[in-house]
Amino acid sequence: MTLRNGREFLAIPGPTNVPDAVLNAMHRPAVEIYTGPLVETTRSCLEDLKRLFGTRTGRSYIYAANGHGAWEAALTNVLSRGDKVLVLGSGRFPVLWGEMAAFVGVEVEELHFGFRHGVDPAAVETRLKADRAGTIKAVLMVQVDTASSVANDVAAVGRAIAAAGHGALLMVDAIASLATMPFEMDAWGIDVAVTGSQKGLMTPPGLGFVAAGPRALQAHRSAGLRTAYWDWTKREGPLHYEKYCGTPPEHLLFGLRQAIDMLFEEGLPAVFERHRLLAEATRRAVAVWSEGDALAFNVVEPAARSNSVTTVRVEGFDPQVLRDYCNNTCGVMLGEGIGELSGKGIRIAHMGHVNAPMMLGTLGVIEMALGALGIAHGKGGVQAAVDFLAEAVPAPSAAPRIDAELRDAMGA
Ligand SMILES: *Cc1c(COP(=O)(O)O)cnc(C)c1O
Repeated sequence: MTLRNGREFLAIPGPTNVPDAVLNAMHRPAVEIYTGPLVETTRSCLEDLKRLFGTRTGRSYIYAANGHGAWEAALTNVLSRGDKVLVLGSGRFPVLWGEMAAFVGVEVEELHFGFRHGVDPAAVETRLKADRAGTIKAVLMVQVDTASSVANDVAAVGRAIAAAGHGALLMVDAIASLATMPFEMDAWGIDVAVTGSQKGLMTPPGLGFVAAGPRALQAHRSAGLRTAYWDWTKREGPLHYEKYCGTPPEHLLFGLRQAIDMLFEEGLPAVFERHRLLAEATRRAVAVWSEGDALAFNVVEPAARSNSVTTVRVEGFDPQVLRDYCNNTCGVMLGEGIGELSGKGIRIAHMGHVNAPMMLGTLGVIEMALGALGIAHGKGGVQAAVDFLAEAVPAPSAAPRIDAELRDAMGA
């Protein structure tokens, strides 16, 4: 028996659901790359990316690349072989970024925070104060670690660096967080920020974005790791195609333009609030299921649980069986545990183009699977999610009055 023949729900933390409007925006003939409307699309996307990153003083760059490409662009534009960076190792992705830095010849030191806790800004301040000679050139961190689902306080790390009186650049991976929660590059003291198209930005994979602030642009001048493709200076050339070091990824840009329009139309504060509400609904459900002792939140401190994805640890059963039931029987694709939780967890994404029925449907299917598979769990997780949303999102009070006015107007 299968109940999967309907619209599939993709609940993995990237790539995320691409809105039909974005797909439709891409469905058009290729265009000329030196002049014409694409030049304006590039200009407006670069400008709007700065707004999304929260920078007025910085510059933005678009790469035909995934997030790993944006990582490499960030590293090679500001660092030299033998430079030292401090990786704030909370979860999996900052460690991977550090491994890439080591690969290109940078010395890497990790401040280890484990897989279940966020970055402790006080530890960063202490480490930087001890670096009297200023050998640490940059601090690398991730805002939301998509493996552990921890959300770090980037602003607090920016303050810690300032409090230490240290000159290290602050480089932040916002790949799983931009357009899901606030990000304020200038206000938080961030020098380099990176993201990708396929998470909060609701666009197919294939675009990497980097924003560089004044201190990063200064460091860029003497960076020894620069290569032709990633180089910021080369991308400042007068010809449009130089912005991409070759043929622009036109159709992805058409899609991105539409996605950014949708985000601004909804309004960023509303986008962030939608993510917070759907994430909290998910957490209410997981909290109830966890009463059965087979499931538990990965992130220990509630305040450090992200609004993009929720990682759930499982005990006493193979999470693949749960994922298979959700996918094969119900058409809901959940994320698998990765890193330390490979084979030991699931990830429920609530990032990008998601709404209440998609999340309630996903949660309903998980609870159904827990029941069908006989996995111990507290019952009523979906009810808890529904109750939370019903209280947090009241009906517009104006509605009944308008109905009454309408009835009057119709002489009823
Ligand atoms: C997805 C992700 C990446 C990697 O992005 P790719 O596009 O797969 O290269 C890096 N960091 C974080 C936090 C991510 O969520």
